[in-house]
Amino acid sequence: MTKITPQPGIMDIALYQGGQSHVAGVEHVIKLSSNENPFGPSPKAIEAVRDSAASLHRYPSTDHASLRAAIGARHGLDPARIICGVGSDEVLQFVAQAYAGPGGEVIYTEHGFSMYPIIARMAGATPVMVAERDRKVDVDAILAAVTGQTRIVFVTNPGNPTSTMIPNDELERLALGLPDTCLMVLDGAYAEFVEAFDGGASLVDAHENVIMTRTFSKVYGLGGMRVGWGYAHRPIIDVLNRVRQPFNLSMTALAAAEAAVNDVEFLTFCQAENARLRVWLADQLAKAGVPSDPSCTNFILARFADRAEAEACDDYLKTQGLIVRRVAGYNLPNALRITVGDEEACRCVVAAINAFKEGAA
Ligand code: PMP
Repeated sequence: MTKITPQPGIMDIALYQGGQSHVAGVEHVIKLSSNENPFGPSPKAIEAVRDSAASLHRYPSTDHASLRAAIGARHGLDPARIICGVGSDEVLQFVAQAYAGPGGEVIYTEHGFSMYPIIARMAGATPVMVAERDRKVDVDAILAAVTGQTRIVFVTNPGNPTSTMIPNDELERLALGLPDTCLMVLDGAYAEFVEAFDGGASLVDAHENVIMTRTFSKVYGLGGMRVGWGYAHRPIIDVLNRVRQPFNLSMTALAAAEAAVNDVEFLTFCQAENARLRVWLADQLAKAGVPSDPSCTNFILARFADRAEAEACDDYLKTQGLIVRRVAGYNLPNALRITVGDEEACRCVVAAINAFKEGAA
C-alpha cells in the first residue's frame, strides 16, 4: 500500500455526477440532460474556430482583452471589470480559492448548483446548505445561517434545476443583509433565457460585495469550448486574476466565444425558439399528468407522483434513447429535469412520457 495520502479534506470532495451522453445498447440518443443548446453553436463561432487553427503554435491571449471588450460592448459593461474562465465553473472556483479557505464557510441553497459544495471543499472551506421554501431561495434562512466565518453565499438566478427567479428586491435585501466580509455570487448561467434581465449586473454595480457569473455553455451553445465570465468591482477582479492561470482559455475557445457574443441574430433565434418550445413542452407534459413550475430557462422541472415514478419514467425514457436528468442529488427526488430540445426532441420526449403514463396507469 502506498504511503502517499491526499491532503486533509480531499476525499470529502464529491465526484460531480451528470453529463451522461450514452445509453448502453442504444445507438441513437437524444440528450436532454445538460441544458445544452439544441441548435448548436453559432455558425460564426464554428468559422472562427476554423480560422484560429492556423495560429495554434502561438500561446493565446493572457488578458482576454478582445473577448472582454466584446462581452462589455454586448452587455454595456466595463471590460476592466470582467474576468474570463474555463467555463463559469472556473470563475466560481477562483472566487472560492481567493476568498474562502480552511475555517471559512460557504453558503449554498438546498436546490442550488451541485458544483458549489464541491468548489467550496476544493478551496478547503466548509459548505453550508440552507433550505429553500417551495423550491424558492429563502433570503431569511440564508441570513440566519450567516456566521462570523461565512465568506461566500452562492445563489443561482434563475435557479437550476428549479428554474425559479429570485425577485430583485429579495436579492437587494440579501446583498444588504450580508456582513461586508462576505461575498454574494449571483450565478446567471441561464440569464440569457429570461427576457429583459441583466443577470444581476445592476446589483453588482450597486454593491461592492456582489459578483455575477455567466457562461457560454448554455444559450451560446459552446459547452464543449468551456468559456465563462464574471463581472464585479475592480478590486475583486484584481484579486481573482491572481489565482487565474495565465493561459487558462485556449485560442480556439476565445475565438469561438467572441464570434458567438457578436452573433446577435443567432442568439435571438435560439432565445425565441427556446421560449416557444418551452411553453409547448410544459403544456404537453401537463396534459400527460406531469406538471412543472413555470420555467424561465431552457429546461423544465417535471414533477411526478413520487420518487419511484420519476425513476421508472427515467428508466423508460432511456430505453427510448432519451436522456434526461435525475435531480435526487438536488433534493428533488420526485422530479426529472428535461432540457428544452429542438422541435423533434420535444415531440419525442412528450410521446415517450405519454406512452410511459399510459403503460403505468
Ligand atoms: N452554474 C449553473 C447554475 C449551471 O447549471 C452550470 C452548468 N451546468 C454552471 C454554473 C457551469 O457552467 P459552465 O462551467 O459550463 O460555464
